[in-house]
Amino acid sequence: MPSNARLTDALPSGLTALPPLREVIARHGLTAKKAFGQNFLFDSNLLDKLARVPGPLSGARVYEVGPGPGGLTRALLRAGADVTAVEMDKRCLPALAELGDAAAGRLTLIEGDAMRIDEPAVLGAPAHIVANLPYNVGTALLVRWLTADPWPPWWLSLSLMFQKEVAERIIAAPDSDAYGRLSVLAQWRSRPRIALSLPPRAFIPPPKVDSAVVHIVPTQAPEGVPVKAVERVTAAAFGQRRKMLRASLKALSGGLEALSASGIDGARRAETLTVDEFVALARCWSKLS
Ligand code: SAM
Repeated sequence: MPSNARLTDALPSGLTALPPLREVIARHGLTAKKAFGQNFLFDSNLLDKLARVPGPLSGARVYEVGPGPGGLTRALLRAGADVTAVEMDKRCLPALAELGDAAAGRLTLIEGDAMRIDEPAVLGAPAHIVANLPYNVGTALLVRWLTADPWPPWWLSLSLMFQKEVAERIIAAPDSDAYGRLSVLAQWRSRPRIALSLPPRAFIPPPKVDSAVVHIVPTQAPEGVPVKAVERVTAAAFGQRRKMLRASLKALSGGLEALSASGIDGARRAETLTVDEFVALARCWSKLS
């Protein structure tokens, strides 16, 4: 179980008196570890820009995954947010506890794995999610948040750093190589956009690839389409994306019946279907199965 500690006894002015992040990292020996997907951000102007992606945060609740040494956490606190942050790397907790001391009770730390947190229970109220995600669990977390049930979800918006290639998959249009399951899951009930692009040199250590921040605000869900149906239909269709739908949907029980009921030509391939066509296919599949 994660341990949960509210850090309260702090001076409101404490944030301005914090030592530089590099000093904190050196003092606590926080060398970046690949196993935790650690690429840290130091530039406070850039971090403030990232903290502005969700819009004004004064008095807002923010959930941050992977605060690490706390660079983004500092920016979120500077923006006036109440932050709940979950970190898996125990080495970071003393540095984050110091930040909590300076944050006048506006930082709640959770030690644990973000994949195992019951977020609505921990947060108690809707929150913006802002994170420089660890690359190894970033996509899994995004899918988990995009497939939240009920909808509108417990989160108000997502502002998430990904490898640029993943960000491009999220916003991709049909008939492109990047278009796939992640595009449909993101776009059937939200309008994702790329809010910032960052070169490798923005991080320490620099990753091999460019990065981008995706901003996602939930929109209304289409009627009569269970999230499971969208997940199953897209998984089957894109599981064999080069095949015609009449072949790829054979793997899904009721898939061919749904294809025929939807009126979509079985000779088409998954990457040619619009998001609305996937929704129509999922609606037919859920009615039939
Ligand atoms: N937020 C910091 C920054 O921007 O400099 C660090 C970002 S670093 C890319 C990702 C962070 O997520 C690391 O601190 C890592 O330890 C943490 N992390 C990795 N896997 C995690 C998980 N499953 N649950 C919670 N935190 C995780």
